Amino acid sequence: MKDFVFCPFCGAKLEKKRGRKGVRNRCPACGFTQYKNPIPSVGAIPVKDGKVLLIQRGVEPVKGAWVFPTGFIDEGESPPQACLRELKEETGLEGRIVRIIEAYAEEADLYGHILVIMYLVEVTGGELRPGDDAADARFFYPGELPDLLFNCFRDSMARVLEEGLIS
Ligand SMILES: [Zn+2]
Repeated sequence: MKDFVFCPFCGAKLEKKRGRKGVRNRCPACGFTQYKNPIPSVGAIPVKDGKVLLIQRGVEPVKGAWVFPTGFIDEGESPPQACLRELKEETGLEGRIVRIIEAYAEEADLYGHILVIMYLVEVTGGELRPGDDAADARFFYPGELPDLLFNCFRDSMARVLEEGLIS
C-alpha cells in the first residue's frame, strides 16, 4: 500500500514515527497510525460437469487475461459470503463452497500486498452473464485451460487437479 500524505480522518499532515516495527505514518493531531496490512480478498475456482469457469478481463489492468472471479471482502462479510457474491456479480452464477484451497500473498499495483483466499466452488444455478468488466466468460476442460496470470490462480488450479477435485 502507498503512503498516505494526509490523515484520512482529520486531514492533518502525517509524520514519520519510528517504532519497534520500523517507520510508520502517524497523525500528530488525532493519533491515527497507517498500518500496512495486506487487504483480505477471495477468489473462486467455479466448477461444473468437470469443467472450470474463467473470465477474460475486458478492461485494464491485465486486459485480455483469463482470471478466476476475485474481489475484496466487504465490511461485515465472511470470506465464503464474499466469494459467492463475487461469483454472482462477475458471472451471474450461483454456487456452493466445496472447500478452501489455500491462502496466498499477492502484489497489486495500486493496493500493494493482498491476501487472497482461494475456494473451490460448485456451480449450482444461475445463468452465465459476464459482468461489465469482462470480455468473455466460459467453461474449460482442465486439459484446455489458457495460461493463468497470477501465482494464486496457477497454484490453486494445480492443487485442484493434483488432488482430483474435478471429475
Ligand atoms: Zn488525524
